[in-house]
Amino acid sequence: MTQRRLKFWGWGYEDQTLTEDDSLMIVKRLNKLTGLQPNSYLSPPSLSEINLPKPRSSVPNRLSHLVSQTDYDRASHTYGKSYPDYIRAFAKDFSCCPDSVCFPETNENILELLEWGSEINAAIIPFGCGSSVVGGIEPRVGDKFSSVITIDMRKMNQVLEIDKTSRAARIQAGALGPQLEAGLKKSGLTLRHFPQSFEFSTLGGWIATRSGGHFATLYPHIDELVESLVTVTPKGVMESRRLPGSGAGPSPDRLIIGSEGSLGLITEAWMRVHSKPEFRKSAVVRFKNIEAAGQSIRSLLQAGLWPSNARFVDSEECRLAGVNKGDYHMVVIGFENSEQPVDTLMNKALECMEDHGGVFGIAGERDKTADIWRNAFISAPFKREGLISYGIMHDTFETSITWDKLSDFHENIKLVTEQVIKEVTGKPGHVTCRFTHAYTDGTAPYFTFHAETKPGQELEQWREIKTAAGDALLSAGGTITHHHAVGRDHMPWYERQRPQLFGGSLKAVKNYLDPESRLNPGVIIPLDKESSLP
Ligand SMILES: Cc1cc2nc3c(=O)[nH]c(=O)nc-3n(C[C@H](O)[C@H](O)[C@H](O)COP(=O)(O)OP(=O)(O)OC[C@H]3O[C@@H](n4cnc5c(N)ncnc54)[C@H](O)[C@@H]3O)c2cc1C
Repeated sequence: MTQRRLKFWGWGYEDQTLTEDDSLMIVKRLNKLTGLQPNSYLSPPSLSEINLPKPRSSVPNRLSHLVSQTDYDRASHTYGKSYPDYIRAFAKDFSCCPDSVCFPETNENILELLEWGSEINAAIIPFGCGSSVVGGIEPRVGDKFSSVITIDMRKMNQVLEIDKTSRAARIQAGALGPQLEAGLKKSGLTLRHFPQSFEFSTLGGWIATRSGGHFATLYPHIDELVESLVTVTPKGVMESRRLPGSGAGPSPDRLIIGSEGSLGLITEAWMRVHSKPEFRKSAVVRFKNIEAAGQSIRSLLQAGLWPSNARFVDSEECRLAGVNKGDYHMVVIGFENSEQPVDTLMNKALECMEDHGGVFGIAGERDKTADIWRNAFISAPFKREGLISYGIMHDTFETSITWDKLSDFHENIKLVTEQVIKEVTGKPGHVTCRFTHAYTDGTAPYFTFHAETKPGQELEQWREIKTAAGDALLSAGGTITHHHAVGRDHMPWYERQRPQLFGGSLKAVKNYLDPESRLNPGVIIPLDKESSLP
């Protein structure tokens, strides 16, 4: 039986590639809903059409069992899954592919590979499953290296140990979401961390990027679930102590969580896990007014109700997803618990939302609109490829903001994005928003936009839109990213956002752990030259 291969240029498996007809249906539907006009069809790239540069380094015999230089491996480790990644892949431009792709199985293997990197003056790129949407794994590393080695962690994918008493599990960093959940399920446990990219992203990638899961409150980021880490650095292996909490100085884990492969390769983690939830309730609450919807979520959290989910979706996003005619915004709210029923909590939450003008269906009856939205959400990464085939720009950006600024912030960002799309493309675009995560002090607005493009100018057009949106996020008090990470694409804003002294401190840490600056150059710590978009 042949193994199912992931697309080397896109989302999911090769057998999940849309046909031209599928793509046409998707683009026609979007045209009907938004008026955006497609260009002519461009088919996705095939491997035989791609000219990869010759590998600049040969593989020593002692490492040949760990290293691949096949076209498929090099091409499939060139790009992540951002809009500019797709544009370059569709243009068949894989000129910046890595020279070698390695598949270690142990920490010792990784130390050997790091040593090889030093011998041949290579940049080293840690790789989970390549779902980065911010240029995190792209070999855009400047010109001081003679080679690029990508280290793919997916052969280190086991749940190694479960401590049921402390409810924690030791898991290898290369485990994909479904692999680690399958390993935990046998013991009735779950990590309960479900990013939209769950199926095609790894534990190590989540920790390295501080990913945000689906459960929108309480533990939205992976950070709180990490108990301890093993990280392989060029200086040696760093292992933190398993502790439920510790006041012993700055946390070694917090240094690595979010370091995006710039300080070391995370190889395993003890993770806090949960019992499988037995009791669940969800509801959809409709609002006429965005501000009221936001206030209702804030009230729930500040009252300590902590729903497992409280996700606002604006009326336009509802309309595009086929949930409604754009006549109301919705908040999807959910509670779950492994020990006790959640009906009382749900009733209290609904009461609270009703006080803010929310309207909901009959208690206890399943509201299908949440399912419709969820299905649209899950299929979105595939449909996006159909839109790109027909020249429609489809991209997202996300941020966070405190409740006191939310209303102006949301309006301002939407307006700036709509204006820049019109200026750049000459046509009105389409911008929608949802709030993916919620806290007692604020929320995480997530914007999706669609725009027409001029063939051959997609990258320039995208750069202008991205720059205007990024600038607007920062000047209105938000962050350049709430959970998509920094990568290479967000560096210009990250450098502006973080305190200068903090940037200098990180550089000093990098100089210590990675003295030859080989690990993911240009990510988190800038290259010598100014960072820029692809
Ligand atoms: C369709 C789609 C939906 C998404 N939804 C979400 C979402 O809901 N929430 C969210 O947070 N993100 C989301 N993302 C972004 C992406 O999935 C996350 O950033 C994810 O954490 C990356 O995991 P990965 O294993 O694919 O890592 P990669 O993309 O391979 O790598 C990401 C970064 O982490 C580093 N890295 C990877 N593994 C290791 C390791 N073991 N040690 C050290 N560094 C490492 C890489 O060098 C790179 O800088 C989405 C992306 C897509 C395409």
